[in-house]
Amino acid sequence: MKTTCIKTDEIEHEISGIIDFPDDRFEEIIREVGFVCDLCGRCCTREFNDHVFLLDDDAKRIIEVAGREVLRPAPYYEFCDNLGRFYVMGYALRNKSNGDCIFYLGGRCDHYADRPEICRIFPYMLHREEDDEGNLDWRQIGGLNQHGLYHGEVGVEEAGKIAGNVKRYEIAFLKQKLAFLNKIEEHFKKHGLKHSQQIYDRKMRELKCGGEIEVYVFQKGNFIKEKLSI
Ligand code: SF4
Repeated sequence: MKTTCIKTDEIEHEISGIIDFPDDRFEEIIREVGFVCDLCGRCCTREFNDHVFLLDDDAKRIIEVAGREVLRPAPYYEFCDNLGRFYVMGYALRNKSNGDCIFYLGGRCDHYADRPEICRIFPYMLHREEDDEGNLDWRQIGGLNQHGLYHGEVGVEEAGKIAGNVKRYEIAFLKQKLAFLNKIEEHFKKHGLKHSQQIYDRKMRELKCGGEIEVYVFQKGNFIKEKLSI
């Protein structure tokens, strides 16, 4: 019996859907949208982005160039065990006190060459998401018409490159999620733990009132223990 109501088959299904999504259709959408970055920087600010999620390889590279202190457990922890410890599938970049990305300095990215994968493909995406009416469908562009320029010229070769990068990112994200969920299943079973929403909510209230929590961050197949307070 599963200990955590994990829907790994849905993730596997989603991965297959991304692989099978027709490249020519995706490239056509990319060319039709014609997004052109005008360096407005809005996607690096709180206005657009409450966190920048890091794939395992992003976290490893960023630790090498900027140190561990620029990382934090990604918000929205997935589980809390009955001993009050949280679990999350990866790291995110820290934010500055105004909520902007920690690397956003003087209107530009201070680590542009080493920026996370999500920053390289934004605003493109390829995952299924519900709309306001609850209809589940493929989404391809984030923040449409809210930043940058649209209806620019995107060549066939460039569109193909973007489509390939987006697919690789979305698949890597889902594989990390799948590995995390499998690890949780194994960890909870081995240690006789279970998820508790009641404890999750109580510990979150304590955190907001100045308490400290323990978060186990999934990184390269293992959990790394982090302590967190506001
Ligand atoms: S890492 Fe760089 S590109 Fe990505 S959100 Fe932060 S400042 Fe922007």
